[in-house]
Amino acid sequence: MKNILDGKLLARELELRLIAEINRFVAQVGRPPGLGVIRVGDDPASKVYVSNKEKACRRVGLNSVVLHLGADSSPEAIIQTIESLNNDHKIDGILLQLPLPQGIDAAPLLQAISPDKDVDGLHALNLGRLIKGEKGPRSCTPAGIMALLRRNKVTLEGKNAVVIGRSILVGKPMALMLQAADATVTIAHSKTANLPVLTNQADILIVAAGKAHLIGDEHVRANSIVVDVGIHRINKESSMPGKLGYKLCGDVRSEEVAYKVKAITPVPGGVGPMTVSMLLVNTVNCWQFHCGLSSTLSDLLP
Ligand code: NAP
Repeated sequence: MKNILDGKLLARELELRLIAEINRFVAQVGRPPGLGVIRVGDDPASKVYVSNKEKACRRVGLNSVVLHLGADSSPEAIIQTIESLNNDHKIDGILLQLPLPQGIDAAPLLQAISPDKDVDGLHALNLGRLIKGEKGPRSCTPAGIMALLRRNKVTLEGKNAVVIGRSILVGKPMALMLQAADATVTIAHSKTANLPVLTNQADILIVAAGKAHLIGDEHVRANSIVVDVGIHRINKESSMPGKLGYKLCGDVRSEEVAYKVKAITPVPGGVGPMTVSMLLVNTVNCWQFHCGLSSTLSDLLP
């Protein structure tokens, strides 16, 4: 059986570490870490993600507040909500759940989040810190992938890494983190010519294109490490006659490449749980910073 990069397992380990960390300081500080999550509109996937994040907060003893705004909210109303969380001393981290409904530009909203509460690491200041190699909250999905690679002792130094996708949320910060770990990094995107030629040079292939089953046997080099960031619901027959259920799949046709890879992340159970974990790590880190405690989690932040 091929090596699975098990995000669910590592996420459970990290949660135990976070519980210990919170318990160590909560009496001294007088409050647990606080996370404010803003969800705009009724995207069903976002609803599930936010609910998973709330459950994870409860498991580790983190106080979470979810503010749900209508899809027709004005940018001003969303900024007002962000401001109220910026000014709330019991809130250490703020997450604006993406994607936003069509027509709402995320950039000025992300910029309104106080940089020291920016637990998704998407404020321009924190992205700048990442480019410069300075400390700061790191984008959860790529930071979670780095933690997963490190935990599985994947060597990055001197290796060829190809990242498919150049979004601010995943692809670009991912490439910067891999580069900071001394990999040689290439970014591919929708205009990249001859994708299979490029991806066949990858020792480490990170796929964040957001296209179900885009990557298959022809793209993947033998003995490479494949990280599948994509997550899609595809319809399938349910056990209830006449009803459709759904199953989750990634950007990679994993059954096609399983025979040749050195290791691969499953979907679900790979990158998803690590994204949630890193949100918790960033929030606890911000809490420690706000309360004047030294951080003991910096080994988890690339
Ligand atoms: P995004 O903003 O849509 O970006 C997708 C990127 O992929 C773009 O840069 C795009 O290129 C590129 N791309 C699209 N089609 C391509 C193709 N055929 N060949 C090469 N590149 C292609 O998506 P995202 O926010 O980065 O997320 C990517 C995926 O990860 C989505 O499925 C999302 O649901 C998933 N995700 C999962 C987690 C998790 O926790 N598991 C977290 C975040 C995101 P252009 O720039 O040229 O358009």
